[in-house]
Amino acid sequence: MTLSLYDTLSRSVKPITSLNGCTRMYCCGPTVYRDAHVGNLRTFMLSDLIRRTIEISGGKVELIQNITDVGHMSEDVADQDKMLSQAKVEKKDPFEIARMYEESFHKDLALLNIKIAELYPRASESIDLMISMINELIVEGFAYIGSDRCVYFDAQSFESYGQISGNRLDALKPGHRFEYSDEDGKHFHADWALWKNAGKRTQMVWDSPWGMGFPGWHIECSAMSMKFLNRHINVHVGGIDLRFPHHENERAQSNAFAGSETVDLWVHGEHLLFEGRKMSKSAGNVILISDVISRGLDPLAVRLNFLENRYRSQMDLTWASIESADLRLSKLRKKMQLWGDSLESQIDEEFLAAMEGDLDAPRALQRLRTIEKSADFSDADKRARFIYADKVLALDLNRTIDAKTISPIQQELLDAREIARKQKRWSESDTLRAQLEATGLEIKDGPTGQEWSWLSRK
Ligand SMILES: [Zn+2]
Repeated sequence: MTLSLYDTLSRSVKPITSLNGCTRMYCCGPTVYRDAHVGNLRTFMLSDLIRRTIEISGGKVELIQNITDVGHMSEDVADQDKMLSQAKVEKKDPFEIARMYEESFHKDLALLNIKIAELYPRASESIDLMISMINELIVEGFAYIGSDRCVYFDAQSFESYGQISGNRLDALKPGHRFEYSDEDGKHFHADWALWKNAGKRTQMVWDSPWGMGFPGWHIECSAMSMKFLNRHINVHVGGIDLRFPHHENERAQSNAFAGSETVDLWVHGEHLLFEGRKMSKSAGNVILISDVISRGLDPLAVRLNFLENRYRSQMDLTWASIESADLRLSKLRKKMQLWGDSLESQIDEEFLAAMEGDLDAPRALQRLRTIEKSADFSDADKRARFIYADKVLALDLNRTIDAKTISPIQQELLDAREIARKQKRWSESDTLRAQLEATGLEIKDGPTGQEWSWLSRK
């Protein structure tokens, strides 16, 4: 069997496709003017689950995930560039801001055991790619230069516009809130900017055949996916909020450019609520992985919580659910230790079938509970099947409390803390200690520097 996934475009569950045994994936990446919250991370974990489910049966995956570090990532505020305004708030160069949040994005991925992609192209370093794609779209008659010297995609030139989201052009009323409110130079209300004129802006602008300016957000994903995945994507992953207009526009641009249907499967992860509400800065309920760690909880408890829900269902994360997942995780790890120390892995067909059936992780976890409680399996067999399952679940089920080795991320945190202490940055050193404790390490500061040991938890 192979993995099947729900395709938003055809509204059906379809088997994944690949090219010469390699599944080419694209996942819309983070906007790096702030930390990714747990809702963003749920989407990033979705591509990891797809990858791991393919790989456990010997398949190969090539994943590209973009880093949006070019200014105007805002969907609703035309004149307030989020990157530039954050740079102002933090009194830093916008690129400095971008690199800082990009680094914490990678740390968050590591804390959730999300495997690294083959490539993380930055938008700011792909401007030439975007310019040449825009050029080609103009030549082919899919784009035009507006009276305001911005370049627009002609939505009506792309016949099947709206098929992913069901938002057909004839139903899109003028005045519908599109990406920019200052797009005066376009011919039709549903057209969108591929290249924006710099106007008075001086930061984060580039030279182009249409003058100084900056690219539209949607063109970034088209340019990168077409270039790095050779004009064809087997699985395209993103959050449900990106379905319209972002993915609709991305599909129009890429298909017009390549002259073919460029994506086999459009896969969307559903919304995440926190304590019953949409996470938002104004509601003050934006939860980061660092918040989980500072409460002394294992970040992988969040991963377990995500796995307990189907990716296509809206889910509600709560502190209580993370705490109980944290407890379950420690119990499972203890069980694994009781079952022996072999590293042998045993395929479990039922577990695999659940994952391959549109990533039914709750059913896969149920299967593990059955194995755990069953008298039909020996302890060694139980352990081997859990080791197999953990290649996909990635919950570090085999983590032992008295292990002699630490993970690369723990080493990185230890190194960072040592430097912070040398430079007398005490509050940072305390934060790092909390993070290390959350990963299971106890830190003591002695005359020869910091020493670590494994914390015995719960
Ligand atoms: Zn995208």
